[in-house]
This record gives sequence, C-alpha cells and structure tokens, in this order.
Amino acid sequence: MTMIRKRSVLLGLIVLVLSFSVFSFSQQQPEKKETPVTALVGGTLIDGTGAAPIPDAVVLIEGNKIKAAGPAAQVKVPDGAKRVDVRGKFVLPGFIDCHIHTFYPYDSMQAFTETNSLDTLRALHIMQMYAKCGVTAIRDVASPVEVMQALLRGQQLGYIDSIRLFPCGVGITVTGGHGDGLKGIVTADGPWEWRKAVRQLEKEGFRHIKILPTFTLEEAKAAVDEAKTLGLRITAHGGGQSDTTPTSMTRIAVLAGVHCVEHLNEMEVDVLDLMAEKGVYCVPTLAVYHELYRQKQVPRSLVEKRHWTLAMHETLFKQARERKILMGIGTDGVGGFMRLYPGLYFDEMKYFLELGVPPMDTIVAATKNGAIILGMADELGTVEAGKLADLQVLGGDPLKSFDVLGKPEIVMINGKIRQD
Ligand SMILES: [Zn+2]
Repeated sequence: MTMIRKRSVLLGLIVLVLSFSVFSFSQQQPEKKETPVTALVGGTLIDGTGAAPIPDAVVLIEGNKIKAAGPAAQVKVPDGAKRVDVRGKFVLPGFIDCHIHTFYPYDSMQAFTETNSLDTLRALHIMQMYAKCGVTAIRDVASPVEVMQALLRGQQLGYIDSIRLFPCGVGITVTGGHGDGLKGIVTADGPWEWRKAVRQLEKEGFRHIKILPTFTLEEAKAAVDEAKTLGLRITAHGGGQSDTTPTSMTRIAVLAGVHCVEHLNEMEVDVLDLMAEKGVYCVPTLAVYHELYRQKQVPRSLVEKRHWTLAMHETLFKQARERKILMGIGTDGVGGFMRLYPGLYFDEMKYFLELGVPPMDTIVAATKNGAIILGMADELGTVEAGKLADLQVLGGDPLKSFDVLGKPEIVMINGKIRQD
C-alpha cells in the first residue's frame, strides 16, 4: 500500500466515522429535545366555554398547546411533567380586549407631537401591564402602521416577549370623517379608494380592518368586499360622530356586511334585529362611556341635540342581549382615560354584571367571545385540548366576586409561565 493509498483509506474511514456520528447525532436529536409538559394540578377549572366549573382539575400543557383539561380522575399527569400545585385556585383562559388603541398618548394633544418611537414604547408598556393582569390578547382597532408593524416584527424576532397583538393598523374614514386628522387614521373617498386602503393595509401585514363614519353604502361595501376577498376581519365604529351625522351609519355598516360593530351608540332598534339576523358581533365599551359622562366629555351637541345619555347606551346593551348578539369586552380608553389601564378592562366586565349579565357569561364574553371576534375561535379563548396555552390562575373564585380579577398568581402565554 502506497502512502497515498493509505492516506485515502484513512481519510475514507474518518469521513465514514464522521458521517456516522453526524447521522447518529441527528437520529438522537429528536429524543433529546422532548417537548416540555406542564401540569396545573388540583385547581378549579373555568374553561371559558360557559360550562360548569370543574373542581380538582388537571390542565396539561405540552409545548405551547393545551394537551388535555378535565377532572383529575380523567386526566393523568405523565411521568416527567412539571407539576404546578394550584389547589384552592381557579384556572381560566387569558382575557381578550377587543377594542384598544395602545399607542394613544395620555394627553390627546400629544397625539400630534409624539414620535412613533415613543408611541411604540407606550403600546408595549400597555401590553406588558396587561400581561401581568391576565389579559393575554388584544385587538388594536387603530394605531399608526409603523408602530404596530414594529411590535409585530419585534415579537417575531424575539426582541420582545408580550401578549398577542391583533392590530388593524390605521382606521379608514372619509375626508372630514370620524378621526380625520388624528394619528392612526387614514382618509379615503369613493369605493375604489376604500378598496385601495384595505389592500394597502393587507399589504402592510394587517389581518383586521376598522372603518369609521361617515361612509356611503358603496364605500362600506367596497371595503367589506375587499376585506373578505383577502380573508380579513372587518369592524365598524358604530353610530355617527356628531349631531349632523345620520344615525343610519351602523345600519349601513351592517348592510355592507361587517363582522362586528364597535360601541352601542344611537341606532334604530331594527338595526339590532339586523345584527342578530346576520350574526354581527358587538363590542359595547360601556366603561369608557361611564367615564365620558362622569367627566362630562361627551360633546354637548350630542347631549343637547341628539339627547345622548348613559341610559341610551345601556338600553341598547340590554336590547342587544335580548337578541343574543355576541358581545366581547373592549375598553377604548383613549386620551386621559389611558391612565385607567389596566383597570378599565375589569371595570368593563363589572358593567356587564351591573346590566344583568351573569358572572359566567361575562367570563365567556372576556374569553371565548373575544376569540370569536378575533376570528381565532379554533386557537384561543377556552381551556380545551388543542388550543394555544394562554391561561391565568386566580387566587379566588371569580364567580363569587370580580374583585379577584386582574391579580392572577400565574399567567401563561403560549405555554410559558411569565415571570413578571
Ligand atoms: Zn376606539
């Protein structure tokens, strides 16, 4: 054997050994990387479906998903699972806020002067406050495009670790319409401009669309048609914007085919019938109206000429309930009301109670209904096998008192227990 042949045989052997070790390493790899399993053991499960609470329950979380949830007698904790003792506590899905503007400055005047960078930090600050309180997903219904994109991308890249964000990007209105001139709003006139505005938002990465009055039926229809063609969810600000805006704005939005209406403002009762018939959802935002009336911030023209009162919103709420319109929890605390976060969310839940919604149905509104409004009912909103693991563990029974809300002992987002 020549030196060269010896060398090539040796080289061949090395390559063989190396490739074998690479092969066996890649074979062993999946076994080594076992998906972590966590078991929340012994708590009372309020699963968000509206079903009766399950005492002494086990919730098994594998990776970022719920593997099983039910009575301890039925759900076995596998060997090697990390057991978390939650006896005496209450396990619920994470809550969902369906109406928020996270970028909004605490002083409305600053909306004109503050930078997108500061708006982004403020939005993240609000999201982190919510994470601590058990609100694990939000629908942002109008904030600047750049701010929302930065947060979405920052989450994708792992720069920030926060709650789930479902943004609309900017809201669409007409020239002179509701919010025209504010950050977070874009104007469009005529059906083709409305279509283009929806296309632009989809191109910018948004899966939700928000429209604001005053729009024509043609404009609203164009936006709805475009949104549905692109597989997006579309919601409308309900009611007009001043004493001169026609009250039929919500009717137009519903006729155009929106998925959801924000706020229960002045509208004819038969529009509620139409919403019920078409399965349109609603986010009433009662708590912020309480604050608006309490702080006398409702425009005088609406109060004097259109006779707006708190009772008007509350009557519409009751009429919507009678018609079984699906409602979610939303806050909408812009301007000075930004200071009311995160408590504004739980105030909204308490106003549901005050207006006769049972505690369990209110919890369903905050969880399952929120997920339906987001278009995420298959993945979020309830503690059931196969769903993403967004959970909270409360120290007391929320069916006895809502005072225990907002102070969870454990918050889990995407299968990970948060440390903050
Ligand atoms: Zn709003």
